[in-house]
Amino acid sequence: MSNDSQTGISVNGRSYPMPKVTAVAICIDGCEPAYIDAAIDAGLMPTMKRIRETGTMHMAHCVIPSFTNPNNLSIATGRPPSVHGICGNFLLDPETGEEVMMNDPRFLRVPTIFKTYYDAGSKIAIVTAKDKLRALLGEGLKFDEGRAMCFSAEKSDTTTMAEHGIDNASEALNLEVPDVYSAELSEFVFNAGVQLMKSFQPDIMYLTTTDYVQHKSAPGAPQANAFYEMFDRYLTELDALGAAIIITADHGMKPKHKADGTPDVIYLQDVLDEAYGAEKARVILPITDPYVVHHGALGSFATAYLSEGVDADTVISQLKGIQGVDVVLTKAQAAETYELPEDRIGDLVIISTENTVLGTSRDRHDLTALEVPLRSHGGLSEQVVPFIMNRRVENLPEAPELRNFDAYYYVAQAAAL
Ligand SMILES: [Zn+2]
Repeated sequence: MSNDSQTGISVNGRSYPMPKVTAVAICIDGCEPAYIDAAIDAGLMPTMKRIRETGTMHMAHCVIPSFTNPNNLSIATGRPPSVHGICGNFLLDPETGEEVMMNDPRFLRVPTIFKTYYDAGSKIAIVTAKDKLRALLGEGLKFDEGRAMCFSAEKSDTTTMAEHGIDNASEALNLEVPDVYSAELSEFVFNAGVQLMKSFQPDIMYLTTTDYVQHKSAPGAPQANAFYEMFDRYLTELDALGAAIIITADHGMKPKHKADGTPDVIYLQDVLDEAYGAEKARVILPITDPYVVHHGALGSFATAYLSEGVDADTVISQLKGIQGVDVVLTKAQAAETYELPEDRIGDLVIISTENTVLGTSRDRHDLTALEVPLRSHGGLSEQVVPFIMNRRVENLPEAPELRNFDAYYYVAQAAAL
């Protein structure tokens, strides 16, 4: 890798110029494009409306599984999970049979764009809503030189200069720590971004939110519109400060329930136990994380490990026959089709349709915490995300060629003009 601070950086096989103004990527978690359309139509996003007319508004594809971490790390590295290694929140350690959280930076296989810019002398600011992403996104940054900050809204009152590049971010920014399940957790991220633009003046900034609102409210619903109206106010400020800005998402969001409001779930572990016997197959849901309240650990992507003696072809044809199952692929097929790391997925990958989710066993999902009919993601039906820039870009491809992880490739170019 050659990093010439005059001409730009090169990382993971792609080149990025040095920005002359701040290059900002904003990842709106769970931003199905219809949320923005509905809020613009309701007259609540004047700046976004202007950007749609004078900037660039395209659609891009996110990576599969359409989950938060794989996509945030794709945006941060400019490459799919086959390159960076993060393909979900959990993997099964084949040695121990234990489910291991993939939040630890040791699972990240390549440097981020942030680290590479940092090493070339740039100033970096990263603000996340939840803390689960912070360590991965901040991997490789040095926080003792006054040129990097990386912290979460969730843990903003316990940040230190040594670990996050800022002492008590909550106090420094005069922002109270919001509840982890709230729209305010994302508002904190936007507010911090505006403040840091003025005070810290980073070269590269990344703002990434939480999909609390999108899990609860459909496009055009009052809470959703209020969220996007709030976002537009901060977008107005960031735009006025001269930043080159790209707005994209980690994944979309779809209703995953029946007409009566109950979740439409295929309990895959139960299906496989019944057909092949207990402990012959092990279903892993990579959506599972410590924050399950709003989705009950139910998404549209699962992977299954099969014991010896269980015939994959038989399982595949059985699963394909289940209503609500969209795609069943072998490990090799899935790795190639969705650019996944083969050593971190099971023998099969299963994806469900737009309004259906995949569970393990019925008794392992607590659905009583779901306060509203389930909305979730993970599948192909949540792959289309917005790709919006406050600069006009000529010859920008559209989905499916355009990917959300092209964000810094384009915003750095716009910021270098
Ligand atoms: Zn997400």
